[in-house]
Amino acid sequence: MVKTMAINAGSSSLKWKLYDMPEEVVVASGIIERIGEKDSIFSINYNEDKQLKSTVTITDHEEAVQMLLKQLIELSVLTGYDEISGVGHRVAAGGEYFSDSVVVTADVLQKIELLSELAPLHNPANATGIRAFKKILPDITSVAVFDTSFHQTMDKVHFLYSIPYEYYQKHNARKYGYHGTSHKYVSLRAAEMLDRPIEDLKIISCHLGNGASICAIKGGESVDTSMGFTPLAGLTMGTRSGDVDVSLLPFIMEKENIKTIAEMIEILNSESGLKGISGISNDMRDLKAVQATDERASLALEMFKDRIKKYIGSYAATLNGVDAIVFTAGIGENDITLRKEISEELSFLGIEIDEEKNDCRGKEKIISSETSKVKVLLIPTDEEAMIAQDVERLKETSVYS
Ligand code: ADP
Repeated sequence: MVKTMAINAGSSSLKWKLYDMPEEVVVASGIIERIGEKDSIFSINYNEDKQLKSTVTITDHEEAVQMLLKQLIELSVLTGYDEISGVGHRVAAGGEYFSDSVVVTADVLQKIELLSELAPLHNPANATGIRAFKKILPDITSVAVFDTSFHQTMDKVHFLYSIPYEYYQKHNARKYGYHGTSHKYVSLRAAEMLDRPIEDLKIISCHLGNGASICAIKGGESVDTSMGFTPLAGLTMGTRSGDVDVSLLPFIMEKENIKTIAEMIEILNSESGLKGISGISNDMRDLKAVQATDERASLALEMFKDRIKKYIGSYAATLNGVDAIVFTAGIGENDITLRKEISEELSFLGIEIDEEKNDCRGKEKIISSETSKVKVLLIPTDEEAMIAQDVERLKETSVYS
């Protein structure tokens, strides 16, 4: 059986899923956390309901990959390394270089590292993951799947900021967008569920997790998206502020004696959003639990909803209409009330939610009424499946080993 691995490498973690391809059946999955610490955590789910979890010392990503492959053989999930025909790696930033996933070559790896200035926390870790697999499985096709590449179809009208044009020409200062793999996956699924060619559809995809973004998709291509040069822009998120007037920053810095812009940006990334407004938590479930009695939790939830509605309205205008709205990721897949309220409060667009169908979590479903002009869909995202599909698609073109 041909197997493909989907990898999401962080600076101290490595999340993975192993697929039988082309059936796209997950045969095992897991996460290695605290890489580089004495008490790294290693866990594997396999044989449907079996789990192996241990605390060990794993010094770096290479050792993590070695241990992972050895364990998969010991557990008889793999018969040998040669059963893996390709490895796909999630990479945060692809800049303007990559408008699709690519087979990793020395040049690609160099560009991923060069793009670290766009995603300083993610790209170096993604490159480390790629290198670790390459070292241990040198002959196996390695594919990079970028969070940004789906949005490379945006045109200048949508990706440029209204600032001096030279900043784009000289420094590529522009909107790149993120969550592209998720937006692409759910839009393809939406077309299949609606049994309509994606070329004919105008879709607004709402990826609402701890990180959140909305994407306007026409004919299967990203037209505009709410995240920007970095993932900080757009919606109110778990800990990120989303859009703010940048003139506010020097004002707050002076009043609060914040010394550097880096510190200020860190506050916007990590101490803002639902967490900053509520003063309680970045986690939607925590806020919902206290919203009836806690004014600021309730306010945070209203603001979260408000920004989503604004972006949907604005993208309906950008697309000059909308055929389908998709909800995905942790909040989008699970928050029944939020989906209902957003749909009802945007009824002027021709959205009619079916409350019974909407009473559902985490599985694919059309949740609008039969007569709704705009279809509303609940689609669990699956970025790893998209990565595995891209490995399948590209491995025939592999030129590097
Ligand atoms: P990320 O991958 O960006 O870390 P997820 O897609 O896992 O985030 O989404 C996490 C968010 O989903 C959290 O805010 C969490 O509270 C929310 N969530 C999970 N289950 C529910 C639920 N039943 N109702 C509302 N929100 C939920």
